[in-house]
Amino acid sequence: KLEAGQMPLHLEQGDVLPYLRYLTLSFRSYAQMQKLGLHFLSGQEKIVMDYDPEKLVNILSNLLSNAIKYTPEGGDIYVQVDKMPAIPDSSSRTGTTEVLQIRVRDTGIGIPPDKLPYIFDRFYQNKPNAAFTSDSRQPGEGTGVGLAIVHELVKLMEGDIQVKSREKEGTEFIIHLPITRKATPALSSEPSDIDFLTKAFLPPATEEVELPDLEKQMAAADNRPSALLIDDDPDILTYLQLTISDHYRTETAADGAEGWEKALAIIPDIVISDVLMPRLNGLDLCSRLK
Ligand code: ATP
Ligand code: MG
Repeated sequence: KLEAGQMPLHLEQGDVLPYLRYLTLSFRSYAQMQKLGLHFLSGQEKIVMDYDPEKLVNILSNLLSNAIKYTPEGGDIYVQVDKMPAIPDSSSRTGTTEVLQIRVRDTGIGIPPDKLPYIFDRFYQNKPNAAFTSDSRQPGEGTGVGLAIVHELVKLMEGDIQVKSREKEGTEFIIHLPITRKATPALSSEPSDIDFLTKAFLPPATEEVELPDLEKQMAAADNRPSALLIDDDPDILTYLQLTISDHYRTETAADGAEGWEKALAIIPDIVISDVLMPRLNGLDLCSRLK
């Protein structure tokens, strides 16, 4: 589709920062499973611009899954998002004055300098010499199209991508996307639930929670049916909350016993529960609730 020019951009105007933070944090469980730290950083409070949400998912997922795949246990991955003046050089594309910069950095195995020029090529994988190893336990068990797609998508958005890497030290991908503000703003100008929730479980950084909006959201929330989410994995709870909070008021509990108490207290419209949990498991909880 990309090659045939059959992949149009669907631009929306809005604050791209909470969206990128949400995308990044949705990889946190996966990173934690590999014993990796995943960090989202930004010096900005807000970056309003035109962006195509689907293309950004694609780009960030590819870069993050690579970073996770090619970073040994105990390492760290940083996603840093900033706004900066465009470099007014000759090849400068849309004549915009500002660019969005997305940096994805890891402390992983790195890429040898002689391989760097090829990593955006389709089907390219930096595998160890196949003649010497019949080992299929390679971390890179993909197809080698991830970065080629990222590259094409960045070009489609009239941006650029660079890579810096040092073997055994880590790799950094730096993307620049021109900032325009021409598209229709996304439906609501209120901070979305995603915005609100992702802020809620991050350290305050440079941002402050705006109380009036929070109150408004609470008030609006009251018309929604209530859902009680029960799981002993806090990441799953956060993920579920993000997923359904447009439609449900959510309460959470960390195991079956707490879930039982909360269910009696709030009589939710629906309960979504894990099965294997300490104290009271999901099956016993289910029959008790019934
Ligand atoms: P796919 O993405 O199709 O599942 P893949 O991850 O192997 O497969 P690409 O994402 O295109 O393919 O990456 C190409 C190659 O670049 C990888 O095989 C790997 O050798 C190297 N590479 C990409 N990202 C990193 C990284 N963060 N650290 C080290 N090497 C990397
Ligand atoms: Mg990949």
